[in-house]
Amino acid sequence: MENLEYDVVVIGAGAAGLMAAGTAARNGSRVLLLEKMEKPARKVRITGKGRCNLTNARPPEELVQQVRTNADFLAPAFAEFNNRSTMRFFERNGVKLETERGDRVFPKSGKAGDIANALEYYCRDNGVDIECNSRVTEILTAAGRVYGVLYFNKRGYERKVEAPNVIIATGGVSYPATGSTGDGYLFADALGHTIEPVRPSLTPLVTSHSQRSYMNGLLLRNVRAVLYVDNVPVREEFGEIGFSERGVEGAVALRMSRDAVDALIDGKSVKIVLDLKPALTDEVLRERIKREVAEMQPEEFFGELLRKLVPKQLVVPLAKELDVHSKLYISKVSEAEFERLVKVLKGFVLPITDYAPFEYAVVTAGGVHCDEVNPRTMESLKVKGLYFAGEVLDVDANTGGYNLQIAFSTGHLAGMLKK
Ligand SMILES: Cc1cc2nc3c(=O)[nH]c(=O)nc-3n(C[C@H](O)[C@H](O)[C@H](O)COP(=O)(O)OP(=O)(O)OC[C@H]3O[C@@H](n4cnc5c(N)ncnc54)[C@H](O)[C@@H]3O)c2cc1C
Repeated sequence: MENLEYDVVVIGAGAAGLMAAGTAARNGSRVLLLEKMEKPARKVRITGKGRCNLTNARPPEELVQQVRTNADFLAPAFAEFNNRSTMRFFERNGVKLETERGDRVFPKSGKAGDIANALEYYCRDNGVDIECNSRVTEILTAAGRVYGVLYFNKRGYERKVEAPNVIIATGGVSYPATGSTGDGYLFADALGHTIEPVRPSLTPLVTSHSQRSYMNGLLLRNVRAVLYVDNVPVREEFGEIGFSERGVEGAVALRMSRDAVDALIDGKSVKIVLDLKPALTDEVLRERIKREVAEMQPEEFFGELLRKLVPKQLVVPLAKELDVHSKLYISKVSEAEFERLVKVLKGFVLPITDYAPFEYAVVTAGGVHCDEVNPRTMESLKVKGLYFAGEVLDVDANTGGYNLQIAFSTGHLAGMLKK
C-alpha cells in the first residue's frame, strides 16, 4: 500500500467532498478529488438564491432538532464539527459572515461563490489534486475493502487510480444539472449497501385549487399554515408562502413538503389550510370587517372590501370560494356571507395533489442507509476504507442552512479518517 499515489480518493467536489478532501489532506493524506463537472461546487454557487445560507447560528445543541431524517446518526458529526466550527472555518479562510433573520448565516459579500472558492482554496492549499471533468464509474474492492476507483478523465480515457480509502460525496438527485445525478447510490448499492428510496424534499407543492392561476406570483408573509394528511393536522408553520408556476413555495410550504411528499406517495389526501389573519381572533376579525363595511358606500363592491383585507391576487379566489360575486354591492352581502368570509380568512384551503420533481427540489430525502455507516467515522460497516459524506446519505433537514451544515459536518468527519 505504501507505494500508492494517493491515500484517499474523494468522489464529488460539492460541499461535503471539498470539506472531506481538504480535511484529509490537512491531516497528512495524499488526496485526489474527482469531480465530473467542469468546475467544483456548482450547487454551492446557487444555494440561498446565490447568497449561500451556509449554516445557522442557533445554539449548536439545537441543530439536531432541525434534521428531519436520522438526526441521531448525525449527532457525532455535529459534535465534531458544528455550526460554530463552520463559521470559524470560513472566517479563517477569509470569508466575512453575517447572521440574518432566523439565525441564518450568509457571506457578508452576499456571494455564494465566496463559499465555493474558500472550500476550493482549502483543498488546494493543503495539496489536494483536483481533477474536474472526471466521472467515476466504479469503486474497486477486494476481500471486503476498497483499493481504488475507475473513472473517465477529462480527455475521455478510462483511468484506474488505486487508493486504500474512497469517500463517496456525490450528493443526491435534486437539481441534477449541478452534477448530482445519483451515481453514489449505484456505487453503494453495488457494494451491498441498502438505499432508502429517494424522493424530493424542500420542493414546491402542487395545488389543484381552481383559482390557482390568479395566485401566481403572490407572496404571503406572516401566515399560519397547517398541513393536514387524511384530515389530521400533522404540522403547523408560520411565515412566508408563495405561489409560482411550479406550485406552492416559500419557507412554510418547503418545510411542509417533507411530510406532504411522503403522504402523497402513500396515496393519502393532503391539504394546507392557511390562516390569512393569524394575529386576529375570529371575534376581532368579525369586528374589523364590520368597521370596514360601515365606512363603505352601499354601491361599493364586495371585492373592494376584500381588497382591504387581502392582497389583490386573492380577491377573486376568495370571492369564488365564498360564492359571492366580487362585483356584488356591499349592501347586498348577507350576514351569513360575512360570517363565511371570517371562516375562509381564518381557514383558506389549498388542496395539494402533487409535488414538483427533483429538478426543483432543494434536497433529496432517502439515500444510503445510515445504520450501515459508522456515525463516528462515516466509514461503511460493509466495506473497509469506504466512507460517505453529505446528501448521498439518508439524511435531510429543514431550510435555514442545515443541509449545508450536514454536508460540512459529515465531510469533515469523513476527512478525519486514519490513513
Ligand atoms: C437551489 C438550491 C439551493 C439551496 N440552498 C441551500 C442553502 O442556502 N442552505 C443550505 O444549507 N442548503 C441549501 N441547499 C442544499 C445544499 O446545497 C445541499 O444539501 C448540499 O450542497 C449537498 O452537498 P453534497 O456535497 O452532499 O452534494 P452536492 O453539492 O450535490 O455535490 C455532489 C458533487 O458530486 C459530483 N459527482 C456526482 N457523481 C459523480 C461521479 N460519478 N464522479 C465524479 N463526481 C461526481 C457532482 O457533480 C457534485 O459536484 C440548496 C440546494 C439547492 C438545489
